[in-house]
Amino acid sequence: MHEMSLAEGIRGIVQQAAAEGGFARVRSVVLEIGALSTVEVEALRFCFDVVMRDTVADGARMEVVDVPGAGWCMQCSATVPISALYDPCPTCGSYQVQATSGTEMRVRELEVD
Ligand SMILES: [Zn+2]
Repeated sequence: MHEMSLAEGIRGIVQQAAAEGGFARVRSVVLEIGALSTVEVEALRFCFDVVMRDTVADGARMEVVDVPGAGWCMQCSATVPISALYDPCPTCGSYQVQATSGTEMRVRELEVD
């Protein structure tokens, strides 16, 4: 499952941050998830709870910040908002749109004790 490896990646980031920051408990993990990423939030939430067991983030809350999608339209020579990866340009209808933001998932911050 794609979300399981994402959750394991988050666990790695959290454990490294805990080792460097010297904290023993993570209360919540704030994630930025782009509208154009293929992350299933509910599936990720489930995997998150599973992989964080017996770590500093056992029982931590997973908070999600939505990042809107945007792309560069070659016809318009402009950045346009798009809601899915292969959506046409909302201005001119062209499919020559290169996604430029909202394609990734990343850890924004950790709330720790
Ligand atoms: Zn366009």
